[in-house]
Parts: sequence; structure tokens; C-alpha cells
Amino acid sequence: MEQNEHPNRGIPSVDRILRDVVDHSLPRPMVLQVIRETLEAIRKCPDIAEPKAILAQVNADLESLAASRIQPVINATGVLIHTNLGRVPLASAALQASTELARQYSTLEYDLPNGQRGKRGSYVERCLAELCGAEAAAVVNNCAAALVLVLKALMEGERNEIIISRGELIQIGGGFRIPDILEAAGAQMREVGTTNKTSLEDYRRAISGRTALILRVHRSNFVMSGFVESPSRKALAGLAHEAGVPLFEDLGSGALVDTSRWAGLPGESMPRDALGEGIDIVCFSGDKLMGGPQAGLIVGRESFVTKAKKHPFYRAVRCDKMILAALQTVVEAYLGSADPVDEVPLYQMLNRSLESLKQRAEKIVAAWGERKGQLSIVPHEGKIGGGALPEAQVPSVALNLKVSGVRPDALAAQLRAASPPVIGIVEKDALIFDLRTIFPEQDDTLLNALLSLAK
Ligand SMILES: *Cc1c(COP(=O)(O)O)cnc(C)c1O
Repeated sequence: MEQNEHPNRGIPSVDRILRDVVDHSLPRPMVLQVIRETLEAIRKCPDIAEPKAILAQVNADLESLAASRIQPVINATGVLIHTNLGRVPLASAALQASTELARQYSTLEYDLPNGQRGKRGSYVERCLAELCGAEAAAVVNNCAAALVLVLKALMEGERNEIIISRGELIQIGGGFRIPDILEAAGAQMREVGTTNKTSLEDYRRAISGRTALILRVHRSNFVMSGFVESPSRKALAGLAHEAGVPLFEDLGSGALVDTSRWAGLPGESMPRDALGEGIDIVCFSGDKLMGGPQAGLIVGRESFVTKAKKHPFYRAVRCDKMILAALQTVVEAYLGSADPVDEVPLYQMLNRSLESLKQRAEKIVAAWGERKGQLSIVPHEGKIGGGALPEAQVPSVALNLKVSGVRPDALAAQLRAASPPVIGIVEKDALIFDLRTIFPEQDDTLLNALLSLAK
């Protein structure tokens, strides 16, 4: 085939496309990469596209690359701890502490009075222990890391068996499975009981010279009811202590305030209560019900916490200074005399009255006016999310948008392309926006995004 008859002749050059693409403020090497990949794919295709179609394809690919950047969104789902949307928003004070600290040098590992090397996180850990009524505390990157670290630290040579109920071999979120975690930690899993029933006797029979610890895991994202049984913490603690075996509980969400103070919400496990009932060591997440930065918090008996901090793996999962600064602010807020709930955005959202949500909804609906879609106010049930209180419903107020001739999923896609993107709930015949997880200062932005749909 002659060069000028080549079927790919119609494909524009990279430079040509580079001049014509819409500006996505993506770094130039990334734009070039997308153009090359798109052209590569087109060359392999038997029907070579028109230059205009090629440019459209490149623009679409650039847009989807730009959309994959981590960026703020408006959470209109009513799910308060939304793992896909960054779990919980952080309090401004915590954020400010974090940026202030990170812009400068700090006492991250410096003992100021003695002018020597100091211990990372020692103050926040002391506060955390006080907050949870524990002998000691340790802070790592996330709860999964805390779980692995404690398991590793409490195993010793032949004593590497972890006793766990079959009813607690759970999966949480994307691929976090307890049996896999135990294996990755180098533990031998010793399953006891059945899915629905595990007795104290089951645990007792499994204890041997090879037992490293007994593990309890919070079921987090589901509940079991009906013909079910598991020993109480107190009973299990009695057994464990009699046998001289540590009892460790992964609490997952780990509330620091009693969530049953909100009408309709059950209580969620609190670290202080778990320790009070005889658990030796617990771990929980910083960015679930605590409402802080991503972190894994370990609290309990000093000898076990010390073992965890001395284990070589601790070095791989320790927190950085920005997290520690934010966490310190949040922990101090919980220890302060004022109601900590006022300083934690998660609880500020829970505190919003239905009346205040309704007023905001009315304002938005009034501004929408007589546009071609139908925007109405509906009651809605939000959720806590993040594997906390899986069955609890959070009564809320939502906007319900119907545009005749446009499917709700198409509307949702348009709003996801807004700036900032708005993430709503697609229902059978409408798109729903729960106002509880939308900050009042975002109402105007939401309204503008909605108005742009009606253009
Ligand atoms: C959420 C959860 C984890 C994981 O917490 P991360 O902080 O995301 O690592 C571990 N265990 C339980 C029981 C959980 O609910």
C-alpha cells in the first residue's frame, strides 16, 4: 500500500489535536498521554473516524480523566458517613490546625522541655486514653491497620491462633474481609460456633497453648436477628482472663458520644463501655462516628498497647503530622467542657431540625418557580453509613426533581458533571436530594446546578 493511500491518513496529528482540545487544566503530559492513547485505539479500529469525531473522543476522554481527580462534591445522598464521598467532613478548626502545623516546622518528634528527640503522638494518645477510660492509646493510619498491628503484636512464635466466631467473619466495604486480614497478619484462624450461634463453651473449647488472642469484630454493616446467640462481652472477658488470653475487639465505627440521644437512633458501641465490660484492647476508626480525620485508634491495656507500638510494623502504619494535628483538635473538643457535638460536623448535621431543613427546601423550590421540571419537597430517610447503625434511619427532608422526558439517571449524570458535582439519589421516576448532608452554604450552588438543568 502506498503511503498516501494509508487508511490512517485521515487521522490528525497529536500536535493538531493538542491545539484543538478544550482546556481541562490537566497537566500537558497527561493531555498528551490521553491523545496518544485515543489515537492508538482509533488506529486499531477498522472504521477510521472523521477528524471531528476523533476530536470529540479525545475531549470525552480528557473530561473523564479530569473527573477522576479527587475534588469536592455536594453530598445529596443523605448518607452521613459516606465512604465513597470521603466519609465525614472535617471540622474547620481541625483543618486549620492541620494546615498551620504543616506549613511550619513542628514538635512532631521533639521533646520541647528537654530539647531532645520526643515521641510522635504522645500527647494525643494520652488524651485519647483519658477520653476512652483506657490505660493507654496508640494512633495509626486507619482501623484496618490498627487491626493488623494489634494481631501481629499479640502473636508470638507458636502462639499464633486467633479465635473468632463464625458469625463475625465479615466483609466490610470494598474487599475488606476478616479471614483475609487474619491471613495477611500471619495468623492461624480458629473459627468457633456457627453463623448464627456461638456459645461461651465454643470459645472455651478452642483455647489452647497456641491461642494468641480472642477476637470480636463489630458486624458493622448488617444485623442478625432471630435464632441467634453470642456470649456477652463480660462473659467472654471472664473466660479470656481465666485462661490468660487477651481479648481484642474491632469496634469499627466506635462512637464517642451516645448516639441514642438522637430520637430514633440506637446506641452504637463506645470504646469506654467495651473496655469497662472487660475487653482488653479495642480499635476503631477516626473518620466514622468520631467525625475526625482518617485514623485507626487503639485503646486499652498498657502492656498490649506498648507491644503494638514496639512492633516493627507500627513504623509502616504510623500517622503523619497533619493527621495528628487534626486528631488532636478533635480529641480536645471531645474532652472540652462544651458539648463536643457542636464542634463535629457529623453531629451538627444530625442536629439539624426537620423544620430548618424544610425552610431551606422551601427557599430552593421558590427560586425554582415555574420551570419545566417539577421540584417538590418530600420526606426522606437518610442513613448513618460507614458501617455504623446499619438499620437506623435518619428522618430528613429532600427535594424531588422530575423533568418530563428526561430520565432521572440522565439528570443525575448531568449533575455529576456540574461544578462542583452534585451527587443525588436516583429513584424510579425522580432524582432526590437529601438536605441533611448538604451544608446550608451549599444551597445556592445546588440551586444553580438545578437551574442549569432547566435551561
Ligand atoms: C470500617 C471498619 C474497619 C475499617 O476501618 P478503616 O478505618 O476504614 O480502616 C474495620 N473494622 C470494622 C469492624 C469496620 O467497621
